[in-house]
Amino acid sequence: MEQGRQGRDDRSPIALECDVLVVGGGAAGLAAAVTAARQGLKVTLLERYGFCGGAAVAGLSGTVCGMYEASDDAARPPVQAVFGFLDEFVARMEARGGLTGPVRYGKTFTRVHDPLAWRETADDLLTDAGVQVVYHTVVTEVLCDGDRLRGVRGYTKQGPLTASARLVVDASGDADLAVMAGLPCTVGDEGRVQNPTMIFRMMGADVDRLKAAEGEDSILGPHVSDLIAKLHAQGEYVLPRSKIFLFPTPRPNEILCNVTRVIGRDGRELNPLVAGDLTEAEVEGRKQVRQYERFLKNHIAGCAEAFVNDTGVQVGVRQTRQIVGTSRLANADVLAGRKFADGIARSPWPIELHSGAKPKLEWLMEDVYEVPYGCFVPERGEGLLVTGRCLSAEHEALASARVTAQCFSYGHAIGHAAAIAVKEGMRPRDIDGRDLRQVLNRDGARLD
Ligand SMILES: Cc1cc2nc3c(=O)[nH]c(=O)nc-3n(C[C@H](O)[C@H](O)[C@H](O)COP(=O)(O)OP(=O)(O)OC[C@H]3O[C@@H](n4cnc5c(N)ncnc54)[C@H](O)[C@@H]3O)c2cc1C
Repeated sequence: MEQGRQGRDDRSPIALECDVLVVGGGAAGLAAAVTAARQGLKVTLLERYGFCGGAAVAGLSGTVCGMYEASDDAARPPVQAVFGFLDEFVARMEARGGLTGPVRYGKTFTRVHDPLAWRETADDLLTDAGVQVVYHTVVTEVLCDGDRLRGVRGYTKQGPLTASARLVVDASGDADLAVMAGLPCTVGDEGRVQNPTMIFRMMGADVDRLKAAEGEDSILGPHVSDLIAKLHAQGEYVLPRSKIFLFPTPRPNEILCNVTRVIGRDGRELNPLVAGDLTEAEVEGRKQVRQYERFLKNHIAGCAEAFVNDTGVQVGVRQTRQIVGTSRLANADVLAGRKFADGIARSPWPIELHSGAKPKLEWLMEDVYEVPYGCFVPERGEGLLVTGRCLSAEHEALASARVTAQCFSYGHAIGHAAAIAVKEGMRPRDIDGRDLRQVLNRDGARLD
């Protein structure tokens, strides 16, 4: 079929109808879509890229943090604290050889994934659950009746897409739908968000030599930070972040480098919600990658022959908007390991605040905190739940609550909540988080 003849736009619009519409295929959106579909609902997932994984894959964040408790006892083996959908994802990734075992990260452990295996695992999970997926769809507008969300409009190459749903889940990471619907959101610490990082991978590394020289911890020691700060001050390199993380990946001779701190050309912190800042972050991020590559090759054992084989598809964006929910996770809740009767996810992860030259880490020892259901229920507006890193949380609490294992848990919980809302004809705000907790326990989340 020829299109666009005689100056007409005759692309055919797409109209979809479903029970639950999930926007965004990051860890949270994937878990929400699969979970809701497994409850017998018709589920559609829209994603702007051609693959799932979001910040973990397109942003190459690269490791699944938040699975294990932290401890001061260096001899303590990894103690898993988070269960449920995550277990299934991990098992499927392991079956593909796409996930390392636990890797030391300061006082806890993380696991490094292969982003290609992630994409394939997500495709399989969605296909097996019967989710209708439309990749390469950017959602640009919400459809509302008064304060009730009915669906969304999006851009596809085929033409405009309209999707109507009984319940919509905003898994965009950026609370895009909430803000389009005019619902209240907050941005960072009075508008200041954590800095973006351009993550990259290097092949040709001698991982054994690296570990022999620097130890098993993926957070490199103070002697490396001091050297980076010195070389940066001398003007030999541009290295604005001195505390760096290097993770051997599941692929031979490859390391994942979480080392950059992307700031503006004028030294200003960039805000990824500003189009010009996000563009500058991409360009500056790529430049910084080459600076850190040169530093690693010249100064870190095992890296002399290594080379950059890949950067993130996009600069890694840690934080943008948070919704204002019926509950809000407070900084103090994280530090105190607070539990809630309506807690629907657990987290043992420290506050890991990326701001300034050294990321700040505040650990929670041999304990977890819980995240209440209300953090995912917008304070006002109906027909909408959010999931993932745009939950309702204070700035530093978010610096803990945003990591991947928790995003799987949030998706698992919100997939069930969406199914309850549709099947029982309930408003999400009327669902009792304590009941949802029981549903999750029956589905392997082991919250009690
Ligand atoms: C630099 C960096 C390093 C990190 N390091 C780690 C780490 O080592 N370990 C760890 O566990 N976590 C890490 N994180 C955090 C973690 O990766 C993310 O917080 C988590 O993956 C977020 O998952 P999510 O599903 O909430 O959102 P996202 O992964 O952001 O997913 C949102 C999805 O929605 C899509 N989307 C957005 N807007 C639209 C739209 N309008 N229309 C259609 N689709 C849309 C996006 O393309 C994306 O796929 C890091 C994050 C960054 C940025």
